[in-house]
Amino acid sequence: MIDFRSDTVTKPSQEMIQAMMAAPVGDDVFGEDPTINLLEKTAADMFGMEAGVFCPSGTMTNQIAIKVHTQAGDEVICDKMSHVYLYEGGGIAFTSGCSVRLIDGDRGRITAAQVIQSINPEDVHKPISTLVSVENTANRGGGACYNFNELEKIKTVCTENNLKFHLDGARIWNALIANNETPKQYGALFNSISICLSKGLGTPVGSVLLGDKDFIKKARRWRKVFGGGMRQAGFIAAAGLYALENNINRLAQDHEHAQIIAAVLKEKDFVGEILPVETNIIIFEIKGRLSANDFVEKMKANNIWMFAVSATQVRMVLHLDITPSMVAETIDAFNRL
Ligand SMILES: *Cc1c(COP(=O)(O)O)cnc(C)c1O
Repeated sequence: MIDFRSDTVTKPSQEMIQAMMAAPVGDDVFGEDPTINLLEKTAADMFGMEAGVFCPSGTMTNQIAIKVHTQAGDEVICDKMSHVYLYEGGGIAFTSGCSVRLIDGDRGRITAAQVIQSINPEDVHKPISTLVSVENTANRGGGACYNFNELEKIKTVCTENNLKFHLDGARIWNALIANNETPKQYGALFNSISICLSKGLGTPVGSVLLGDKDFIKKARRWRKVFGGGMRQAGFIAAAGLYALENNINRLAQDHEHAQIIAAVLKEKDFVGEILPVETNIIIFEIKGRLSANDFVEKMKANNIWMFAVSATQVRMVLHLDITPSMVAETIDAFNRL
């Protein structure tokens, strides 16, 4: 099976499993798991942030961040296709009691000018704008990356208007690799950053939420409330440490694979618009005789799996379990269609 459905489908390598089996562990709710403590510190240091808290999922790290930054009745500003809004089960409403101001961004990315227009004035009729959340890379935008300069402009708007600034960095490593940026640049800009270890980095489980000490202290409390306080979870944190050391630079290969596949798709008469491929995600339109679903079914018959993300669009995601020969096999299947 060649699985392009998501970069979450990766399985741990033998080396990663070895690292997991050898991890020293303790009760993390007591703060006594040395592997988790090391992972939190390692990730925080990488981004130049004060502290981190290890969580079971990126949904939990995002939703905890929103919970800490807001009060019920506040408003969160984000793009209309944001994961925090679209794919987290209505969590912003349920766990934080906040409303959302959606911005019609460009492939999931918003601008400082759009943020300015979305901030509510001091008025009893209006919810209080308290938080801006951005996603880099933008998942539904086809792995689109922010121009760092625009993020700096948004930060200035946040500072001037007393808004907190959160980064959903589920795929931040893809953006860093694609644009030659450093984690510290991001750490200096955001009040909180959520990073996923189970996407491109290939671990089975886990995300880390980063911020200053006071923020993380509050985040730890909400993690417990949300049921995310784990015990000897150092076994899974060890996979994260392994991934931070070994699986970041290789993301460039996923980006190359995505370019190779997109170049072939571009020549096909059954393919319409392909969103610009910047990282490891390809979103393309199927046109003519096939629907997106027909296309997905035909590929599945070849044991090649991908998702239709709308009636006309298909998404393919590259990751560390996709080898060069799998890319070649997939291209053969396209050519036979
Ligand atoms: C996958 C993802 C998350 C977190 O998802 P979980 O499955 O809860 O770990 C958050 N943001 C984006 C953009 C994602 O793609």
